[in-house]
Amino acid sequence: MTQNRIYLSEPHSSGKELRYIEEAIRKNWISSGVGVSDFEDDIQRFLTTKKWVCATNSGTSALHLGLLLLGVQSGDEVLCQTFTFSATVNPIRYIGAIPVFVDSERATWNMCPKALELAIQSRCSLGKKPKAILVVDSYGMPFQADAIRAIATKYEIPILEDSAEAFGSQYKKQPCGTLGDIGVFSFNGNKIITTSSGGALVVASKELRDRAFYLATQAKDAAPYYLHSELGYNYAMSAISAAIGRGQLEVMEERLAARRSHCLFYEKAFAAVDGISVFKEPNADFFSNYWLTVIQIDKEKTNGLTPELFRSFMEKQGIETRLLWKPMHQQPLFCNYPYYGGQVAATLFENGLCLPSSSSLNQEAKNSIQSCISQLLKDYDCIAS
Ligand SMILES: *Cc1c(COP(=O)(O)O)cnc(C)c1O
Repeated sequence: MTQNRIYLSEPHSSGKELRYIEEAIRKNWISSGVGVSDFEDDIQRFLTTKKWVCATNSGTSALHLGLLLLGVQSGDEVLCQTFTFSATVNPIRYIGAIPVFVDSERATWNMCPKALELAIQSRCSLGKKPKAILVVDSYGMPFQADAIRAIATKYEIPILEDSAEAFGSQYKKQPCGTLGDIGVFSFNGNKIITTSSGGALVVASKELRDRAFYLATQAKDAAPYYLHSELGYNYAMSAISAAIGRGQLEVMEERLAARRSHCLFYEKAFAAVDGISVFKEPNADFFSNYWLTVIQIDKEKTNGLTPELFRSFMEKQGIETRLLWKPMHQQPLFCNYPYYGGQVAATLFENGLCLPSSSSLNQEAKNSIQSCISQLLKDYDCIAS
């Protein structure tokens, strides 16, 4: 097979980026923080939200700013979904705050409301009321927003929504990124749309938006000279990145349709297989962008085919797949922080695999993926007759 390598999730140019880049250069919008408001307006329009948007140079920096806006300080505790990428947790540590990890639930793979409430009660009984709840829309699937919101309201703890992977997803017709008190997107190269590197913060008021931008541009106070009373950061998005983002946003609906159609393609590919299931929206309240299509493999039913055997077989054919998030509470870096829950996240990691999901995945690529999968399933005698 002489086919180019097939990636898990690669950038996909719309061809409309150059026009915006040329405009930015013509206007001399070269400094970071200048000329990005059009992109912020585009995002706000796409989300059809009254909330405010502050573009940043990454999703990670947006998460860091989000924690700061919620008043998280060194030594504070932050409840954090364990089933996620490390970039969710790292900003908690940048501040010197303490992550308290919470397990997932089976329907969305995101934060379990029951484990969350137990964690809150336990931390409060130790006199350490958590400062924030950091939930994730993993693989584009919205978290259990109503149930988590009810707990957040009951205990008066704000929600920071890491929607890095879920731009375009919705819960009960509400866009992900607007479900928490503060939301975060990533426009890194592997996400559904990209600004090469970038992110955004979604906040409830102009005051919060202005404060985010102030912190993101070195916290300069109003004075004719450089005056600083607070610690600042260099986190603003550049207009060149914003220009790429504007060109990408123009085709967002097509990108969404493509990722969602890939999920259906894989569902068909595994339809006749007892023991492999595609991760799907639990019910009509959930609308996922299916940033990545993910499967669970029950190795009792697949004659020993494990996610790692699946991955290495595909890798030999030049097709990239990836194991799921190894839970944060099981990472060498984070394993000494408190954890509340059972084995849900750990089991997802053990049994799951992410499949190629780029919006640029064409029919030819799908045909190679299909034939590799068919071969593998035949080798393991997994197809139901
Ligand atoms: C990609 C990602 C981030 C970080 O975003 P960057 O733009 O790469 O900094 C944070 N959280 C999750 C869940 C992500 O997938």
